[in-house]
Amino acid sequence: MSARSDNLKSPEVLQCSKCGACLPVCPVYLQKMEEGASPRAKVQLSKHYTEQNLPTSSHLNNLINCCLMCGNCTAACPSGVQHQSLFMRMRSYMATDHGEGWHLKTLYHFLSHEQQLRLASRFAKLGRNHMLNYLAREVKIGNIPVKRLPKFNKRPFREQIIEDVKQNTPSRGTVLYFTGCGTNYIFDKVGHSLCRILKVMGFHVEIPKSQVCCGLPLFVHGNLEKAATNITTNIKLFNRNDIVAVVTDCATCGSALHKEYEIVLKELGMDTEAAKELGSKVRDISEFILGNYELLEPHLNSKATRQKVTYHMPCHLRNGQGVTTEIETLLKRLPHVEYTRADDYDTCCGGGGTFFYDHPETSYQIVSRKIKNARATGADLWVTGCPGCSINLSGNLQEEDNISVEHILLLIEQALKK
Ligand code: SF4
Ligand code: SF4
Repeated sequence: MSARSDNLKSPEVLQCSKCGACLPVCPVYLQKMEEGASPRAKVQLSKHYTEQNLPTSSHLNNLINCCLMCGNCTAACPSGVQHQSLFMRMRSYMATDHGEGWHLKTLYHFLSHEQQLRLASRFAKLGRNHMLNYLAREVKIGNIPVKRLPKFNKRPFREQIIEDVKQNTPSRGTVLYFTGCGTNYIFDKVGHSLCRILKVMGFHVEIPKSQVCCGLPLFVHGNLEKAATNITTNIKLFNRNDIVAVVTDCATCGSALHKEYEIVLKELGMDTEAAKELGSKVRDISEFILGNYELLEPHLNSKATRQKVTYHMPCHLRNGQGVTTEIETLLKRLPHVEYTRADDYDTCCGGGGTFFYDHPETSYQIVSRKIKNARATGADLWVTGCPGCSINLSGNLQEEDNISVEHILLLIEQALKK
Protein backbone atom coordinates (compact mmCIF):
# COMPACT_ATOMS: atom_id res chain seq x y z
CA MET A 1 0.00 0.00 0.00
CA SER A 2 1.20 3.46 -0.81
CA ALA A 3 0.01 5.68 2.03
CA ARG A 4 0.73 9.34 2.58
CA SER A 5 0.69 10.52 6.12
CA ASP A 6 1.18 14.20 5.17
CA ASN A 7 -2.54 14.41 4.37
CA LEU A 8 -3.19 13.94 8.07
CA LYS A 9 -1.34 17.13 8.87
CA SER A 10 -4.05 19.01 7.04
CA PRO A 11 -7.14 19.73 9.10
CA GLU A 12 -9.46 19.63 6.11
CA VAL A 13 -9.44 15.83 6.07
CA LEU A 14 -10.38 15.57 9.70
CA GLN A 15 -12.91 18.40 9.78
CA CYS A 16 -15.64 16.50 7.93
CA SER A 17 -18.59 15.82 10.22
CA LYS A 18 -20.29 13.61 7.60
CA CYS A 19 -23.31 15.96 7.67
CA GLY A 20 -24.10 15.44 3.98
CA ALA A 21 -24.62 19.14 3.08
CA CYS A 22 -22.32 18.65 0.10
CA LEU A 23 -24.41 15.87 -1.45
CA PRO A 24 -27.32 17.82 -2.97
CA VAL A 25 -24.95 20.30 -4.66
CA CYS A 26 -22.63 17.73 -6.25
CA PRO A 27 -23.48 17.24 -9.94
CA VAL A 28 -21.79 13.83 -10.05
CA TYR A 29 -23.62 12.55 -6.96
CA LEU A 30 -26.95 13.92 -8.21
CA GLN A 31 -26.45 12.06 -11.48
CA LYS A 32 -25.25 8.76 -10.05
CA MET A 33 -27.11 8.79 -6.71
CA GLU A 34 -24.44 6.56 -5.15
CA GLU A 35 -22.69 7.41 -1.89
CA GLY A 36 -19.33 6.47 -3.46
CA ALA A 37 -19.74 9.30 -5.97
CA SER A 38 -20.35 11.93 -3.28
CA PRO A 39 -17.88 14.51 -1.94
CA ARG A 40 -18.44 13.10 1.56
CA ALA A 41 -17.27 9.67 0.41
CA LYS A 42 -14.22 11.15 -1.33
CA VAL A 43 -13.23 12.96 1.87
CA GLN A 44 -13.68 9.84 4.00
CA LEU A 45 -11.86 7.62 1.51
CA SER A 46 -8.97 10.10 1.50
CA LYS A 47 -8.87 10.00 5.29
CA HIS A 48 -8.76 6.20 5.46
CA TYR A 49 -6.21 6.00 2.66
CA THR A 50 -3.85 8.34 4.45
CA GLU A 51 -4.38 6.55 7.76
CA GLN A 52 -3.36 3.37 6.00
CA ASN A 53 -6.71 1.72 6.70
CA LEU A 54 -7.56 1.54 3.04
CA PRO A 55 -5.25 0.03 0.43
CA THR A 56 -4.92 1.72 -2.91
CA SER A 57 -6.96 0.16 -5.73
CA SER A 58 -8.21 1.00 -9.19
CA HIS A 59 -11.70 1.36 -7.68
CA LEU A 60 -10.42 4.04 -5.27
CA ASN A 61 -8.62 5.72 -8.18
CA ASN A 62 -11.88 5.83 -10.17
CA LEU A 63 -13.90 7.20 -7.26
CA ILE A 64 -11.38 9.96 -6.53
CA ASN A 65 -11.08 10.97 -10.18
CA CYS A 66 -14.82 10.94 -10.93
CA CYS A 67 -15.09 14.61 -9.99
CA LEU A 68 -15.65 17.81 -11.95
CA MET A 69 -13.56 19.89 -9.52
CA CYS A 70 -16.43 22.38 -9.65
CA GLY A 71 -16.04 23.58 -6.05
CA ASN A 72 -19.75 23.26 -5.17
CA CYS A 73 -18.95 20.99 -2.23
CA THR A 74 -16.48 23.44 -0.70
CA ALA A 75 -18.98 26.29 -1.07
CA ALA A 76 -21.67 24.25 0.72
CA CYS A 77 -19.56 22.71 3.49
CA PRO A 78 -20.34 24.12 6.97
CA SER A 79 -17.13 22.63 8.39
CA GLY A 80 -14.77 24.40 6.03
CA VAL A 81 -13.42 21.28 4.34
CA GLN A 82 -11.10 22.39 1.52
CA HIS A 83 -11.96 19.73 -1.02
CA GLN A 84 -9.88 21.24 -3.80
CA SER A 85 -6.57 20.95 -1.88
CA LEU A 86 -7.48 17.49 -0.64
CA PHE A 87 -8.56 16.17 -4.05
CA MET A 88 -5.47 17.64 -5.78
CA ARG A 89 -3.25 15.76 -3.37
CA MET A 90 -5.26 12.55 -3.62
CA ARG A 91 -5.13 12.70 -7.42
CA SER A 92 -1.40 13.09 -7.27
CA TYR A 93 -1.14 10.01 -4.99
CA MET A 94 -3.42 8.02 -7.28
CA ALA A 95 -1.25 8.99 -10.26
CA THR A 96 1.82 7.69 -8.40
CA ASP A 97 0.03 4.47 -7.42
CA HIS A 98 -1.67 3.72 -10.74
CA GLY A 99 0.04 5.82 -13.41
CA GLU A 100 -1.69 8.23 -15.80
CA GLY A 101 -3.39 7.76 -19.14
CA TRP A 102 -1.54 8.77 -22.31
CA HIS A 103 -3.99 11.61 -22.89
CA LEU A 104 -3.16 13.18 -19.54
CA LYS A 105 0.59 12.77 -20.04
CA THR A 106 0.28 14.42 -23.47
CA LEU A 107 -1.86 17.22 -22.04
CA TYR A 108 0.62 17.90 -19.22
CA HIS A 109 3.50 17.98 -21.66
CA PHE A 110 1.96 20.53 -24.00
CA LEU A 111 0.42 22.76 -21.35
CA SER A 112 3.77 23.10 -19.63
CA HIS A 113 5.69 23.82 -22.89
CA GLU A 114 4.08 26.81 -24.63
CA GLN A 115 6.17 26.58 -27.83
CA GLN A 116 5.29 22.94 -28.30
CA LEU A 117 1.66 23.73 -27.53
CA ARG A 118 1.74 26.28 -30.38
CA LEU A 119 3.17 23.65 -32.71
CA ALA A 120 0.66 21.02 -31.58
CA SER A 121 -2.19 23.46 -32.21
CA ARG A 122 -1.04 23.74 -35.85
CA PHE A 123 -1.36 19.97 -36.29
CA ALA A 124 -4.64 19.91 -34.39
CA LYS A 125 -5.89 22.70 -36.66
CA LEU A 126 -5.02 20.65 -39.75
CA GLY A 127 -6.89 17.68 -38.35
CA ARG A 128 -9.92 19.59 -37.08
CA ASN A 129 -10.32 22.26 -39.76
CA HIS A 130 -9.39 20.34 -42.92
CA MET A 131 -9.15 16.56 -42.63
CA LEU A 132 -12.49 16.15 -40.86
CA ASN A 133 -14.29 16.62 -44.16
CA TYR A 134 -12.75 13.39 -45.35
CA LEU A 135 -12.54 11.30 -42.20
CA ALA A 136 -15.22 9.67 -40.08
CA ARG A 137 -17.31 12.62 -38.90
CA GLU A 138 -19.22 10.51 -36.43
CA VAL A 139 -16.17 9.98 -34.20
CA LYS A 140 -16.58 11.32 -30.68
CA ILE A 141 -14.07 12.77 -28.26
CA GLY A 142 -15.57 11.87 -24.90
CA ASN A 143 -19.22 12.90 -25.12
CA ILE A 144 -18.68 15.38 -28.01
CA PRO A 145 -19.00 14.42 -31.70
CA VAL A 146 -15.84 15.69 -33.39
CA LYS A 147 -17.89 17.49 -36.04
CA ARG A 148 -19.34 19.68 -33.28
CA LEU A 149 -15.98 20.76 -31.91
CA PRO A 150 -15.07 24.37 -32.71
CA LYS A 151 -12.42 25.08 -35.34
CA PHE A 152 -8.97 26.31 -34.40
CA ASN A 153 -7.96 29.92 -35.03
CA LYS A 154 -6.08 30.47 -38.30
CA ARG A 155 -3.28 31.89 -36.18
CA PRO A 156 -3.02 32.02 -32.38
CA PHE A 157 -4.75 35.18 -31.15
CA ARG A 158 -1.60 36.50 -29.47
CA GLU A 159 0.22 36.31 -32.83
CA GLN A 160 -2.59 38.19 -34.59
CA ILE A 161 -2.63 41.18 -32.32
CA ILE A 162 -0.06 43.71 -31.30
CA GLU A 163 1.00 43.51 -27.68
CA ASP A 164 -0.31 46.98 -26.95
CA VAL A 165 -3.83 48.08 -27.93
CA LYS A 166 -3.30 51.83 -27.53
CA GLN A 167 -5.89 54.49 -26.85
CA ASN A 168 -6.40 57.47 -29.16
CA THR A 169 -7.71 59.57 -26.29
CA PRO A 170 -6.12 59.91 -22.83
CA SER A 171 -6.30 56.48 -21.26
CA ARG A 172 -8.22 55.56 -18.12
CA GLY A 173 -5.39 53.22 -17.25
CA THR A 174 -3.72 50.02 -18.39
CA VAL A 175 -5.46 46.67 -18.26
CA LEU A 176 -3.40 43.49 -18.67
CA TYR A 177 -5.22 40.79 -20.62
CA PHE A 178 -4.63 37.14 -19.72
CA THR A 179 -5.96 35.48 -22.89
CA GLY A 180 -5.90 31.82 -21.82
CA CYS A 181 -5.50 28.91 -24.25
CA GLY A 182 -9.20 28.92 -25.26
CA THR A 183 -9.07 32.39 -26.80
CA ASN A 184 -5.49 32.06 -28.02
CA TYR A 185 -6.06 28.85 -29.98
CA ILE A 186 -9.81 28.58 -30.61
CA PHE A 187 -11.98 31.61 -29.84
CA ASP A 188 -10.01 34.53 -31.31
CA LYS A 189 -13.23 36.49 -31.90
CA VAL A 190 -13.69 36.69 -28.13
CA GLY A 191 -10.23 38.24 -27.76
CA HIS A 192 -10.88 40.80 -30.51
CA SER A 193 -14.21 41.70 -28.90
CA LEU A 194 -12.56 42.21 -25.51
CA CYS A 195 -9.94 44.54 -26.99
CA ARG A 196 -12.52 46.58 -28.90
CA ILE A 197 -14.87 46.93 -25.93
CA LEU A 198 -12.14 47.99 -23.50
CA LYS A 199 -10.76 50.40 -26.09
CA VAL A 200 -14.09 52.20 -26.55
CA MET A 201 -14.39 52.32 -22.76
CA GLY A 202 -11.10 54.20 -22.70
CA PHE A 203 -8.68 51.59 -21.40
CA HIS A 204 -5.26 50.76 -22.75
CA VAL A 205 -5.02 46.97 -23.18
CA GLU A 206 -1.69 45.17 -22.90
CA ILE A 207 -1.35 41.50 -23.83
CA PRO A 208 1.94 40.06 -22.54
CA LYS A 209 3.01 37.74 -25.34
CA SER A 210 5.11 35.42 -23.22
CA GLN A 211 2.20 34.44 -20.97
CA VAL A 212 1.66 30.67 -20.69
CA CYS A 213 -1.25 28.33 -19.89
CA CYS A 214 -2.72 29.18 -16.47
CA GLY A 215 -1.72 25.68 -15.33
CA LEU A 216 -5.10 24.72 -13.86
CA PRO A 217 -5.43 21.51 -15.92
CA LEU A 218 -2.05 20.49 -14.50
CA PHE A 219 -2.68 21.16 -10.83
CA VAL A 220 -6.27 19.88 -10.62
CA HIS A 221 -4.92 16.54 -11.80
CA GLY A 222 -2.37 16.63 -9.01
CA ASN A 223 0.58 17.72 -11.15
CA LEU A 224 1.55 20.57 -8.85
CA GLU A 225 5.29 20.73 -9.57
CA LYS A 226 4.77 21.12 -13.33
CA ALA A 227 2.07 23.74 -12.73
CA ALA A 228 4.45 25.76 -10.50
CA THR A 229 6.58 26.73 -13.52
CA ASN A 230 3.52 28.10 -15.36
CA ILE A 231 2.32 29.85 -12.22
CA THR A 232 5.59 31.63 -11.45
CA THR A 233 5.99 32.71 -15.11
CA ASN A 234 2.52 34.27 -15.14
CA ILE A 235 2.92 35.90 -11.74
CA LYS A 236 6.14 37.62 -12.90
CA LEU A 237 4.39 38.94 -16.02
CA PHE A 238 1.07 40.03 -14.54
CA ASN A 239 1.71 41.12 -10.96
CA ARG A 240 2.40 44.77 -11.83
CA ASN A 241 1.67 47.84 -9.76
CA ASP A 242 1.05 50.25 -12.68
CA ILE A 243 -2.20 48.63 -13.83
CA VAL A 244 -5.92 49.01 -13.23
CA ALA A 245 -6.61 45.25 -13.38
CA VAL A 246 -5.71 41.91 -14.91
CA VAL A 247 -8.72 40.76 -16.93
CA THR A 248 -9.63 37.28 -18.14
CA ASP A 249 -12.40 36.08 -20.46
CA CYS A 250 -12.16 32.50 -19.18
CA ALA A 251 -13.81 31.56 -15.88
CA THR A 252 -11.29 28.76 -15.36
CA CYS A 253 -8.15 30.85 -15.96
CA GLY A 254 -9.66 33.60 -13.81
CA SER A 255 -10.26 31.17 -10.98
CA ALA A 256 -6.65 29.94 -11.22
CA LEU A 257 -5.16 33.44 -11.17
CA HIS A 258 -7.60 34.85 -8.63
CA LYS A 259 -7.54 32.12 -6.00
CA GLU A 260 -5.83 28.88 -6.85
CA TYR A 261 -2.26 30.03 -7.54
CA GLU A 262 -1.97 30.87 -3.87
CA ILE A 263 -3.40 27.46 -2.84
CA VAL A 264 -1.02 25.53 -5.09
CA LEU A 265 2.08 27.45 -4.01
CA LYS A 266 1.09 26.94 -0.37
CA GLU A 267 0.73 23.19 -1.00
CA LEU A 268 4.25 23.22 -2.44
CA GLY A 269 5.63 25.15 0.54
CA MET A 270 6.51 28.12 -1.68
CA ASP A 271 6.10 31.84 -0.98
CA THR A 272 2.52 32.94 -1.68
CA GLU A 273 2.77 36.73 -1.28
CA ALA A 274 3.01 37.60 -5.00
CA ALA A 275 0.23 35.12 -5.85
CA LYS A 276 -2.01 36.79 -3.27
CA GLU A 277 -1.22 40.24 -4.71
CA LEU A 278 -1.92 39.07 -8.25
CA GLY A 279 -5.17 37.45 -7.11
CA SER A 280 -6.43 40.77 -5.76
CA LYS A 281 -5.94 42.41 -9.20
CA VAL A 282 -7.70 39.75 -11.27
CA ARG A 283 -11.18 40.52 -12.61
CA ASP A 284 -13.40 38.45 -14.81
CA ILE A 285 -14.24 40.61 -17.82
CA SER A 286 -17.97 40.68 -16.95
CA GLU A 287 -17.15 42.00 -13.48
CA PHE A 288 -14.76 44.59 -14.92
CA ILE A 289 -17.22 45.84 -17.55
CA LEU A 290 -20.12 46.00 -15.10
CA GLY A 291 -17.95 47.91 -12.61
CA ASN A 292 -17.25 50.50 -15.33
CA TYR A 293 -20.61 50.32 -17.11
CA GLU A 294 -21.00 54.09 -17.30
CA LEU A 295 -18.02 54.10 -19.71
CA LEU A 296 -19.70 51.54 -21.98
CA GLU A 297 -23.27 52.80 -22.00
CA PRO A 298 -22.75 55.86 -24.27
CA HIS A 299 -21.28 53.55 -26.93
CA LEU A 300 -24.25 51.15 -27.07
CA ASN A 301 -26.69 51.28 -29.95
CA SER A 302 -30.23 51.06 -28.61
CA LYS A 303 -31.41 49.97 -32.07
CA ALA A 304 -29.09 46.92 -32.31
CA THR A 305 -30.85 43.73 -33.47
CA ARG A 306 -32.78 42.25 -30.53
CA GLN A 307 -31.79 38.78 -29.29
CA LYS A 308 -33.53 36.26 -27.07
CA VAL A 309 -30.87 35.14 -24.64
CA THR A 310 -30.41 32.65 -21.82
CA TYR A 311 -27.33 32.08 -19.65
CA HIS A 312 -25.16 29.30 -18.24
CA MET A 313 -23.15 30.27 -15.15
CA PRO A 314 -19.70 28.60 -15.08
CA CYS A 315 -18.79 27.00 -11.74
CA HIS A 316 -15.38 28.64 -11.89
CA LEU A 317 -16.99 32.07 -11.98
CA ARG A 318 -19.18 31.46 -8.93
CA ASN A 319 -17.00 29.20 -6.79
CA GLY A 320 -13.59 30.31 -8.06
CA GLN A 321 -14.09 34.07 -8.20
CA GLY A 322 -17.31 34.96 -6.39
CA VAL A 323 -18.72 36.33 -9.67
CA THR A 324 -22.39 35.43 -9.30
CA THR A 325 -24.76 38.10 -10.62
CA GLU A 326 -22.56 40.13 -12.97
CA ILE A 327 -23.36 38.48 -16.30
CA GLU A 328 -27.08 38.38 -15.58
CA THR A 329 -27.00 42.06 -14.61
CA LEU A 330 -25.26 42.89 -17.88
CA LEU A 331 -27.83 40.85 -19.82
CA LYS A 332 -30.65 42.78 -18.16
CA ARG A 333 -29.02 46.13 -18.95
CA LEU A 334 -27.96 45.57 -22.56
CA PRO A 335 -30.51 47.34 -24.78
CA HIS A 336 -30.75 44.60 -27.41
CA VAL A 337 -31.24 41.62 -25.05
CA GLU A 338 -34.44 39.87 -24.04
CA TYR A 339 -33.22 37.69 -21.19
CA THR A 340 -34.91 34.55 -19.83
CA ARG A 341 -33.32 32.62 -16.98
CA ALA A 342 -33.23 28.83 -17.39
CA ASP A 343 -34.33 26.77 -14.35
CA ASP A 344 -30.85 25.35 -13.84
CA TYR A 345 -28.81 28.30 -15.18
CA ASP A 346 -26.36 28.02 -12.26
CA THR A 347 -25.68 24.26 -12.30
CA CYS A 348 -22.52 22.67 -13.70
CA CYS A 349 -22.46 21.82 -17.44
CA GLY A 350 -20.64 18.52 -16.80
CA GLY A 351 -17.57 19.43 -18.91
CA GLY A 352 -15.09 19.69 -16.03
CA GLY A 353 -11.81 19.94 -17.97
CA THR A 354 -11.18 16.33 -19.04
CA PHE A 355 -14.28 14.95 -17.24
CA PHE A 356 -16.29 14.92 -20.49
CA TYR A 357 -13.57 12.69 -21.95
CA ASP A 358 -12.96 10.43 -18.94
CA HIS A 359 -16.63 10.02 -17.95
CA PRO A 360 -18.58 10.64 -21.17
CA GLU A 361 -21.82 9.01 -20.06
CA THR A 362 -22.18 10.92 -16.79
CA SER A 363 -21.07 14.12 -18.50
CA TYR A 364 -23.63 13.64 -21.27
CA GLN A 365 -26.45 13.04 -18.80
CA ILE A 366 -25.57 16.23 -16.92
CA VAL A 367 -25.32 18.41 -20.03
CA SER A 368 -28.46 16.93 -21.61
CA ARG A 369 -30.59 18.21 -18.76
CA LYS A 370 -29.09 21.69 -19.16
CA ILE A 371 -29.81 21.66 -22.87
CA LYS A 372 -33.43 20.66 -22.28
CA ASN A 373 -33.91 23.59 -19.89
CA ALA A 374 -32.12 26.06 -22.17
CA ARG A 375 -34.36 24.99 -25.07
CA ALA A 376 -37.42 25.55 -22.87
CA THR A 377 -36.57 29.27 -22.50
CA GLY A 378 -37.11 29.81 -26.24
CA ALA A 379 -33.78 31.65 -26.49
CA ASP A 380 -31.75 31.82 -29.72
CA LEU A 381 -28.53 32.46 -27.88
CA TRP A 382 -26.98 30.72 -24.87
CA VAL A 383 -24.45 33.03 -23.29
CA THR A 384 -21.63 31.96 -20.99
CA GLY A 385 -18.25 33.18 -19.80
CA CYS A 386 -15.98 30.16 -20.17
CA PRO A 387 -14.48 28.56 -23.31
CA GLY A 388 -14.59 25.09 -21.70
CA CYS A 389 -18.32 25.37 -20.94
CA SER A 390 -18.90 26.74 -24.48
CA ILE A 391 -17.26 23.69 -26.03
CA ASN A 392 -19.22 21.25 -23.88
CA LEU A 393 -22.60 22.99 -24.29
CA SER A 394 -22.37 23.60 -28.03
CA GLY A 395 -20.75 20.20 -28.61
CA ASN A 396 -23.81 18.45 -27.22
CA LEU A 397 -26.50 20.43 -29.03
CA GLN A 398 -28.35 18.63 -31.79
CA GLU A 399 -28.37 19.71 -35.44
CA GLU A 400 -32.03 20.73 -35.11
CA ASP A 401 -31.45 22.94 -32.05
CA ASN A 402 -32.10 26.57 -32.92
CA ILE A 403 -29.81 27.89 -30.25
CA SER A 404 -26.14 28.78 -30.42
CA VAL A 405 -23.58 29.25 -27.66
CA GLU A 406 -21.49 32.42 -27.40
CA HIS A 407 -19.31 34.33 -25.00
CA ILE A 408 -21.00 37.40 -23.44
CA LEU A 409 -18.30 39.60 -25.03
CA LEU A 410 -19.54 38.84 -28.56
CA LEU A 411 -23.04 39.88 -27.53
CA ILE A 412 -21.79 43.14 -26.03
CA GLU A 413 -19.68 43.91 -29.09
CA GLN A 414 -22.72 43.45 -31.36
CA ALA A 415 -24.39 46.36 -29.56
CA LEU A 416 -21.47 48.80 -29.97
CA LYS A 417 -22.14 51.78 -32.23
CA LYS A 418 -20.28 51.42 -35.53
S1 SF4 B 1 -20.53 19.18 3.76
FE1 SF4 B 1 -18.43 19.13 4.57
S2 SF4 B 1 -18.64 18.29 6.66
FE2 SF4 B 1 -20.56 17.82 5.56
S3 SF4 B 1 -20.22 15.75 4.66
FE3 SF4 B 1 -19.64 17.23 3.08
S4 SF4 B 1 -17.42 17.50 3.39
FE4 SF4 B 1 -18.21 16.54 5.28
S1 SF4 C 1 -15.86 19.28 -6.80
FE1 SF4 C 1 -17.96 19.19 -7.68
S2 SF4 C 1 -18.06 17.18 -8.68
FE2 SF4 C 1 -16.28 17.10 -7.28
S3 SF4 C 1 -17.05 16.27 -5.39
FE3 SF4 C 1 -17.19 18.50 -5.18
S4 SF4 C 1 -19.28 19.01 -5.88
FE4 SF4 C 1 -18.85 16.91 -6.59
